Amino acid sequence: MPHRPYIVGNWKMNGTRAMLAEARAIDRAAGRYPDVQVALAPPFTLIGALREAVSAMGVGGQDCHTQPKGAHTGDVSAAMLVDTGADFVILGHSERRKDHGEGNAVVQAKADAALAAGLAVIVCVGETLAERDAGKADKVVAGQVDGSMPVGEGALDAVAAGKVAVAYEPVWAIGTGRVADVPDVVAMHATIRARLTAIYGEAGDKVRILYGGSVNAGNAADLLAAEGVSGALVGGASLTADAFLPIVAAAGTGEA
Ligand code: PEP
Repeated sequence: MPHRPYIVGNWKMNGTRAMLAEARAIDRAAGRYPDVQVALAPPFTLIGALREAVSAMGVGGQDCHTQPKGAHTGDVSAAMLVDTGADFVILGHSERRKDHGEGNAVVQAKADAALAAGLAVIVCVGETLAERDAGKADKVVAGQVDGSMPVGEGALDAVAAGKVAVAYEPVWAIGTGRVADVPDVVAMHATIRARLTAIYGEAGDKVRILYGGSVNAGNAADLLAAEGVSGALVGGASLTADAFLPIVAAAGTGEA
């Protein structure tokens, strides 16, 4: 099932307004690759400014609360992300699962809240090195997909509309420079696809499965050409246009 490649930069807790110039440069290039969907998820503080600064690419958040509003100091709701200009949100990133103790049920509730607010979602899953070494990677990731994907009212319609993506990000590959072997990526994407079909039926085919974990200019072409890989979630290499644009180019068929 062919999907439009989706290349998403996750700036994590990096970036002040000084970095908007990089975003503009990325946006100009995104306009030259209409066959690729390009997006950036800056820190919350930059979403509004980035929205104003760019036109060709998507702008997203890196998390949202399960609730639309209320007494949750320091948190941000999906409706607030929409209000400030976001069109999607990354949920269940391993750094949030680890740093904030987010389990599958919380990630699922956030995904349902985000869809209800009109955002598209990218749900992150991935095994730790200990889990892979113990031969449990498949089971862990399948469990994360089963437990984290949105299932609330309207979820199936959102899936069918292509508003739901999964990012397979082996935890040991994130920010380490150690990228997963292509055959392992292909195998895990097939596992994820099978779970998506089990959850959503035929509509599960519409979910793009991205790979994430130390993607860079040197390895992007091989990863993006792999069977079942519909794009990439990119951390470190999304912080500058020079590092990010070769990844966008690797996903595209050339400048229009
Ligand atoms: C990420 O943060 O989602 C990620 C994949 O980071 P990096 O590309 O730096 O490994």
